[in-house]
Amino acid sequence: MKTILVTGGAGFIGSAVIRHLIEQSDHTVVNLDKLTYAGNLESLNGVDHNPRYNFEQEDICNPLGLQRVFRVHQPDIVMHLAAESHVDRSIDGPAAFIQTNIVGTYTLLEAARKYWEKLPQDKQAQFRFHHISTDEVYGDLGGSPGLFTEESPYAPSSPYSASKASSDHLVRAWFRTYGLPTVVTNCSNNYGPYQFPEKLIPLIILNALEGKPLPIYGKGDQIRDWLYVEDHARALCLVAAEGRVGETYNIGGHAEKQNLEVVQCICELLEELAPNKPEGIKHYRDLITFVRDRPGHDRRYAIDASKIQAELGWAPAETFETGLRKTVEWYLENQTWCERVQDGSYRRERLGVGA
Ligand code: NAD
Repeated sequence: MKTILVTGGAGFIGSAVIRHLIEQSDHTVVNLDKLTYAGNLESLNGVDHNPRYNFEQEDICNPLGLQRVFRVHQPDIVMHLAAESHVDRSIDGPAAFIQTNIVGTYTLLEAARKYWEKLPQDKQAQFRFHHISTDEVYGDLGGSPGLFTEESPYAPSSPYSASKASSDHLVRAWFRTYGLPTVVTNCSNNYGPYQFPEKLIPLIILNALEGKPLPIYGKGDQIRDWLYVEDHARALCLVAAEGRVGETYNIGGHAEKQNLEVVQCICELLEELAPNKPEGIKHYRDLITFVRDRPGHDRRYAIDASKIQAELGWAPAETFETGLRKTVEWYLENQTWCERVQDGSYRRERLGVGA
């Protein structure tokens, strides 16, 4: 039984990691989250009353706050997911990405190092700092048929991916220079329950249900390698427990799809699962609207996940088809979560600004 400090645990992937840890292990979990617009404690309903779950509202850029959390909770493992994560927001306002993703990761590394250096030797050897990153750090595969491996050179294109690339380099440097036992994972696009509706898949589902346009950048020919979030959470827990120190593991779903194809699949599922369409809508696909492409938009990402498969025996349990069906069903069955995100009440009540 260990104590695992999860940063960004109120976000999309972090909450999946916490649900997995509480439901599938005996570990104690400390969720450290600043609760930005992307943090939603309602994503943890069902596990947040468990006595093994603790919450600390804290900013990873605050060294004293981090020092306190390390002192109070004495974690054995840090799983670092807290980040600004939306590419479009990074283009509109990169400052928060530089601050949280780079300065925040540096601040967390330093807090972890100071704590780790004072641990007894056996605890020091077992300590892990697991940094969760993205395949976007490798840049654009363009028209090439290749896959990203752990040896692919870094060539980030957006302020988001550049800030994540910087944080990956910092983590490697803290391993090499100070010997902090780190491990890094780089994962492809996730989808699944509790994803904030600014991201492609939930945005399309919720817009379609309201009869709103389904915006697609450019021609919709960008290719992403989609992974169901619970498969990612399982991979992360495996790497945190068994990954080799100093190593990087790529995680992907073997599910390359063009954005247009993804949107068409959602429309087909909705025809079956939500046949009562908003007034005036004949087919959900008629709502597809092509909009001006995102500047610097990478054309293709795809992951070679053979290392994690060979070393740790991980493989995704869901195909794109089974995962997408579960996702659409989840959004249909969890309208309250969606409405409270869409009307902002999940934040207003937390901030004490009335319902
Ligand atoms: P998210 O935006 O849903 O959640 C981020 C969480 O971090 C939120 O709860 C937010 O409140 C918290 N946070 C933000 N700034 C903070 C700060 N300064 N201090 C403390 N907490 C802060 O993100 P996500 O999609 O769950 O992604 C989690 C991690 O996984 C990120 O590091 C991201 O780069 C990485 N990743 C995401 C994907 C994906 O497809 N979503 C794919 C690969 C890797």
